[in-house]
Amino acid sequence: MVPYEIRRSRRARYIRLTVGRHNHALLSVPWRCAFVEALEFLRSQGDWLARNLSEHPTRTSLRDYLERHPRLHALGKTLRLSQGFTRTKPFYVYSLENDEVELRISAEGEQEANLVALVRGFAREVIEQRTFALAESVGAKIKRVSVRDQATRWGSCSSSGTISLNWRLVLLRPNLQDHVIYHELAHVKEMNHSSSFWNLLREYDPDTDAHNDQLNPAGARLMPLGRS
Ligand SMILES: [Zn+2]
Repeated sequence: MVPYEIRRSRRARYIRLTVGRHNHALLSVPWRCAFVEALEFLRSQGDWLARNLSEHPTRTSLRDYLERHPRLHALGKTLRLSQGFTRTKPFYVYSLENDEVELRISAEGEQEANLVALVRGFAREVIEQRTFALAESVGAKIKRVSVRDQATRWGSCSSSGTISLNWRLVLLRPNLQDHVIYHELAHVKEMNHSSSFWNLLREYDPDTDAHNDQLNPAGARLMPLGRS
């Protein structure tokens, strides 16, 4: 078995097989092509796939990661994740009472890109909310929270009071996620990594030292996800 993706196209007249950018089989099929027919075609192309798919798989997609770890972390909780498709506008719904989040992505277009966009939208909402709540709890004055797609950093804090956080924080378990937010909130009062900064951060998060040690390995695992 190989990872595959089926894209329906209104213009395609016949089934076309290429290698997708996650080293997967990408089938472009006519709009009305039956699913079984597409799979049958894929099965008949074993030799072609063996020749053309790289033996060295590329890095993990967000979709693969969430299939293995079906949960997102938000507002101090771990939410069980379920996924589906929609024929209308993509959306998410979550319940903090039931510890659930559901994502519905568009069935058309590239699914990895659709999924990343939706998880980023969810992250923007919940991380902003969490950051303002924690800022209030420790009495840190912030102006704005920006949730972005940083390549290597979990977060940063500007002297103007804007806190920037990585959307992948929703992939970090709640106490680690809060630790990152506390780290940036501590910078509101201490714009450096002096011992008074670390002491302040330990007041906000008593497990600071353990959490700080866990961030690098978590970053190595999570930072490559959802990168185009
Ligand atoms: Zn820092």
